[in-house]
Amino acid sequence: MPKDFLEGARDQYDVVVIGTGLAGMTAANILGRAGYSVLLLEQHYKLGGMATWFKRPGGHIFDISLHGFPVGMIKSCRRYWTAEIADSIVKLKNIRFDNPQFSLTTSFDRVDFTRLLTEQFGASANKIDEFFDTARSMNFYDDQATTTGHLFQKFFPDRTDIWRLLMEPITYANGSTLEDPALTYGIVFSNFMSKGVYTYQGGTDQLVERMTAEMRRNGVDIRIKCDAEKIFVKSDRVVGVQVNGREIKTRAVVSNANLKQTMFRLVGAEHFDKTFADEAEQVRLNNSSTQVYMGLNADERIDEETGDLLFSSTAPEFRTDLLLSRDITSRTYSFYYPRTRPEGRPRCLIVSSTNANYSDWSELSDEDYELSKQDLIEKTLDHIERYVPKIRERLDHVEAATPRTFRHYTKHVMGASFGTKFEGLAVSRSLPEQIRGLYHAGSVGIIMSGWLGAINYGVIVANDVDAMLMKAAGASSPPPENTPARE
Ligand SMILES: Cc1cc2nc3c(=O)[nH]c(=O)nc-3n(C[C@H](O)[C@H](O)[C@H](O)COP(=O)(O)OP(=O)(O)OC[C@H]3O[C@@H](n4cnc5c(N)ncnc54)[C@H](O)[C@@H]3O)c2cc1C
Repeated sequence: MPKDFLEGARDQYDVVVIGTGLAGMTAANILGRAGYSVLLLEQHYKLGGMATWFKRPGGHIFDISLHGFPVGMIKSCRRYWTAEIADSIVKLKNIRFDNPQFSLTTSFDRVDFTRLLTEQFGASANKIDEFFDTARSMNFYDDQATTTGHLFQKFFPDRTDIWRLLMEPITYANGSTLEDPALTYGIVFSNFMSKGVYTYQGGTDQLVERMTAEMRRNGVDIRIKCDAEKIFVKSDRVVGVQVNGREIKTRAVVSNANLKQTMFRLVGAEHFDKTFADEAEQVRLNNSSTQVYMGLNADERIDEETGDLLFSSTAPEFRTDLLLSRDITSRTYSFYYPRTRPEGRPRCLIVSSTNANYSDWSELSDEDYELSKQDLIEKTLDHIERYVPKIRERLDHVEAATPRTFRHYTKHVMGASFGTKFEGLAVSRSLPEQIRGLYHAGSVGIIMSGWLGAINYGVIVANDVDAMLMKAAGASSPPPENTPARE
């Protein structure tokens, strides 16, 4: 008989959370801690969503999305997770850029960027200050007509080298482009510029293990291999979910699944106002990614001066279409030294990431798909030679992931790495106005994607759910301080 992954589950919960990405787990943890009965469902056999890892023989543990996040993670993790998790967050030392326009190493904060922009790029100190202040003052309700390209042109006219320095990492961090509204750039850029780029020492596996333990302490009922098939709605209210063929009653659902999947597959377009559903149809998905994972032989070491993060490109200038092209010119390398997992086996690993279009991979036959993956690997190895000489001789393991891989493991429509573009946020936030008890928490562009954005969005939505359930029970709203601050 097949295993029943819902064995012992109750027939009714206060809240059902669908998906164990960072937003889903954070919402579940806060609601569990607040005393609600919470069922957390994950279709995969592992928790974490995109915050994941995999092991390969030879002691290699590859992280998929542990490349860098802003300092705000420390505060958010301390407040909504544990001190132990917060204390494991450390700053990356060297961020490198190497392209035909410039080569440099930076600590990636405002002070160092100001130094570089004045000394190496010859920009005026006043303009730089003005630019930083403008980016810092942006928020979601700002004018959305000004694009990032306009913003750069205003402060640094025709200085495509400066644009590249300012833009390349943010495109990598949230998929935004020169053509997107400036605020999609300004908010994320300012978050990073406050203190640089941080990582979790111990690896994603340890982080997710600690988060799982904390959720259990808070009474969250966690179920893997549980695919939510349907969210039931009656008289414009959530009444339950169907999971692995079983119906479970609830008054509140937090879906961490892709926004479009939530609306059109789990709920059904017929339950929303037509204009709202039409608006949601128009929401653009973010692009996907390819990655190449390289594990060096056990005794091989890479000089740490090589950097922690390296934005490398052979394109003459920064261009969005080039970033997404199958003909790859830009790669972001993450170097993992033995200090990434101080308690693990000492290994040096490299992950090369590129933005990619789902359509370039989705239609390939199985044979062409395998050939394309092999080609991606070979070209990456050719390219990285310049930073890690004799890489092929030193390599113990190499493999690649594509948009198809990301779709397979997380069910994100078109393998989107960062959910939807920024317009998804307004739709995501409006769901409870359409259907009482229906919430979405997950990557929707700008500040609400990436590790920090996803965690903070989980907090915000948990507060909304708490307020709704308390109101239904006749109590007052939750204390306002339970909202993540912007870094
Ligand atoms: C290649 C790559 C590199 C990245 N690098 C960085 C980085 O360096 N820094 C950074 O901050 N961010 C990075 N990110 C982005 C970051 O990982 C994500 O934004 C974040 O982890 C997303 O969290 P989330 O809560 O939106 O959910 P997701 O991680 O998208 O998880 C959604 C979960 O829902 C589950 N699910 C979906 N449908 C169902 C269903 N019907 N029933 C049950 N479960 C379901 C999925 O299996 C999944 O576990 C990267 C992402 C990728 C792909």
